[in-house]
Amino acid sequence: MTDQYPDIVGRFAPSPTGPLHLGSLVAAVGSYLLAKRAGGRWLLRMEDLDTPRLVPGMADDILRTLAGLGLDWDGEVLWQSRRGAAYQAALERLVADGWCYPCGCSRAEIARAGSAPHDGDGELVYPGSCRDGLPAGRPARAYRVRVGIEPVCFTDLLVGPTCYDLATLCGDFVVKRADGLFAYQLAVVVDDAAQGVNQVVRGADLLSSTPRQIYLQRLLGLPTPCYAHLPLVTGPGGGKLSKRDNAVSLAAGCDLGRSGPGLLLAALAFLGQCPDPALAGASPQDILAWATAHFDPAAIPCHDGLLAGNH
Ligand code: GLU
Repeated sequence: MTDQYPDIVGRFAPSPTGPLHLGSLVAAVGSYLLAKRAGGRWLLRMEDLDTPRLVPGMADDILRTLAGLGLDWDGEVLWQSRRGAAYQAALERLVADGWCYPCGCSRAEIARAGSAPHDGDGELVYPGSCRDGLPAGRPARAYRVRVGIEPVCFTDLLVGPTCYDLATLCGDFVVKRADGLFAYQLAVVVDDAAQGVNQVVRGADLLSSTPRQIYLQRLLGLPTPCYAHLPLVTGPGGGKLSKRDNAVSLAAGCDLGRSGPGLLLAALAFLGQCPDPALAGASPQDILAWATAHFDPAAIPCHDGLLAGNH
């Protein structure tokens, strides 16, 4: 029995751009167990904001797949597609406080003037062209938040102490996109706060998003949750697992009655846990009850490669 912290609020926040896959299942199981082992709550948020990338039917498929695996969330699902007013209010506050400015640059212009990111996520570092005002006659395309020169540091529960310099990671980053959609970074920060989330457990591909989110929390006067970034499940050759590989989904034809227990046991093994062999024929509910009682965060494999990349 572990120490009980019933105030812990964890969450899983899938994007319905494809079926769940083994990587997202690991994030679901890891976030579920780190909340439930402490007696806390585990919420579900459907990140259905990026409308051009949504795949019809996937949100429902993800919900039914999670339920079929016994991963029952607490309370109502929060749908980002219904949260526009909250994101707009946050944007207006950032603009009113002088942290946010309109940007008229096209992708091609940024590609010409931007520099390669230092350990970022592939986007070029914004060169700051519109920081001091839009060029005359230029319409606003996106909104960006001004980053500071102070590094953003935090202690990830699994990765350890981590610092990022936002100026070399991404520069002033987008909070409202040129297509009018609110950006992931802003929506996540507004929603984690609105849902009272205080423990964010997700894949290490989002580690470099965390300093941007902590920076926005500070500008908006919102609390910063604890963060734990799980090792990534990689595809053949060590590359990122594509959404099409290893789909874990009813729509993709998985018979969860048959394969569900095996998938949960595989996720637990990936997280360094040693499920009791007697669980081989158990139901998803029994496997999760065992894992909740026995989950050992210290056994999660560590991230040497990621730590080496930070600065
Ligand atoms: N919706 C994001 C994804 O599926 C996860 C966001 C998060 O956990 O902060 O990659």
